[in-house]
Amino acid sequence: MTEVSVTKDAIPPGADDLVVLKNVNKHFGALHVLQDIDLTIARGEVVVVIGPSGSGKSTLCRAINRLETIDSGAISIDGKPLPQEGKELARLRADVGMVFQSFNLFAHKTVLENVTLGQIKVRKTGKAEAETKARGLLDRVGVASQADKYPAQLSGGQQQRVAIARALAMDPKVMLFDEPTSALDPEMINEVLEVMQQLARDGMTMVVVTHEMGFARSAANRVVFMADGRIVEEATPDQFFSNPRSDRAKDFLSKIL
Ligand code: ADP
Ligand code: MG
Repeated sequence: MTEVSVTKDAIPPGADDLVVLKNVNKHFGALHVLQDIDLTIARGEVVVVIGPSGSGKSTLCRAINRLETIDSGAISIDGKPLPQEGKELARLRADVGMVFQSFNLFAHKTVLENVTLGQIKVRKTGKAEAETKARGLLDRVGVASQADKYPAQLSGGQQQRVAIARALAMDPKVMLFDEPTSALDPEMINEVLEVMQQLARDGMTMVVVTHEMGFARSAANRVVFMADGRIVEEATPDQFFSNPRSDRAKDFLSKIL
């Protein structure tokens, strides 16, 4: 098996592009929330997206998963444009795993059912096979013993790890994380970040919106800094944190570091 090592080096241009956004624009009424976004994410790359509140980070993630439509431009995953509706759209959502700040587990399903449901409904996996896979994933994220509980019986950190397992159960091509630790009590943040670190080491393609700069430094190939709906700066974590070029980024870093 080849070991995919995640380093802080930028992935060179011409690598295997997985997610491509070209000149993407999105408005909410008069608000131009995504402005001329060009972003290419290579297979196996970990991109951390940071920026002030309201800069469009969540909208960017939601557009990649087609939870939001875009007004102009193009988004493709693995060479294919985003589908508009129906079964194709369900498959896209399976290919693009998403983990939200607020966990979003199915409250009336057990942990195990949360992780088998999509496999059975979207991937058409048999129940026994889906359960075996789910138990393996729950073990991988460290919550195997919680399989028969309901989400409300778990801590926030455990719920978020189940949410990661649920997304992974679909064998996604890319995982999007939108502030996955922002709603957690401080003592639970690391257990979720460690699962994400491991995923990064295993070679998963990841887009991570986070304020966890330690994670960005150690796991990201690239930092994308957004402000006012634009990508203002892109750099390796070392470059970005030690020598931000734009005034916006300098100002932002001075407030959070
Ligand atoms: P971030 O995740 O960087 O904080 P968002 O993508 O959530 O930013 O939001 C960007 C801007 O778009 C904000 O000003 C926000 O209020 C606005 N916005 C987000 N979603 C909607 C919506 N559904 N309707 C109207 N405005 C929205
Ligand atoms: Mg957001």
